[in-house]
Amino acid sequence: MITALCSVCHRALDDDTDLTACDACAAGLRAMLTELPRQLPLLAQLLRPGGGPAQRGGTGRAHSPLPVRLDVLDLLGPGQVVPLEDPHGDQSDGIPIAPLVYGWARYIAQQHPSVSRDRHGTIQIRPCDGPASHRGNGIAAWCAWLTAYVPYVCTQPWVAAMHEQLEQLLSQIRSKTGSRPGRTDRDAPCPECACFALVSIHGDPTVRCEACGTALTAAEYAEHAATVLPPLTALAVRIALQQAESAGTAA
Ligand SMILES: [Zn+2]
Ligand SMILES: [Zn+2]
Repeated sequence: MITALCSVCHRALDDDTDLTACDACAAGLRAMLTELPRQLPLLAQLLRPGGGPAQRGGTGRAHSPLPVRLDVLDLLGPGQVVPLEDPHGDQSDGIPIAPLVYGWARYIAQQHPSVSRDRHGTIQIRPCDGPASHRGNGIAAWCAWLTAYVPYVCTQPWVAAMHEQLEQLLSQIRSKTGSRPGRTDRDAPCPECACFALVSIHGDPTVRCEACGTALTAAEYAEHAATVLPPLTALAVRIALQQAESAGTAA
């Protein structure tokens, strides 16, 4: 029997599940969609470039500095939901934030039928034109909209693509704002690859392995740690005692 794997972290999923991503990766998606709007005010503050002398170009003429930082404007401005060809390197940061989150909301909405009744009372079923949010059309509204659809997203084959795009976008934003959530290294080794590389990112309940990408929910990590940490601690104490004894004998 072929075991279904999480499309994001490749952990085995429960048998006969409809899910394509595990609970931990679903929690990771929610955490990213929560953090994204919180980074916006920090990013907006970076729009104004720092002061400095006029830059000299290749022709030797002095140019006035631009009134905005283009790399930040690239992220905050409008754009296409797919990367455009950019042979001259004019764009610096791929898909901007708003088109990316709205693009996913629109993609999800179009997969749902729209059911309505016409003036004759006949039920009309047709593809949905687009998403609607009672919170408005801002990035925070679409992030909240997407958060509500995370359970649906985690049954779809493209969940890994959405997860990866959001992860890359947040990584770009954090590199500019310098605002990175704190992290805690966890004591237990990864249950999949045995590396001591499990970390928790503050604000995200997921415990993720930085070596192999495996994701655990907080409850799964607690259960795993309760199983593996006591024997590991006992082994470490035994090794330390043996080393102390050897050192005493040698002296
Ligand atoms: Zn997963
Ligand atoms: Zn691992």
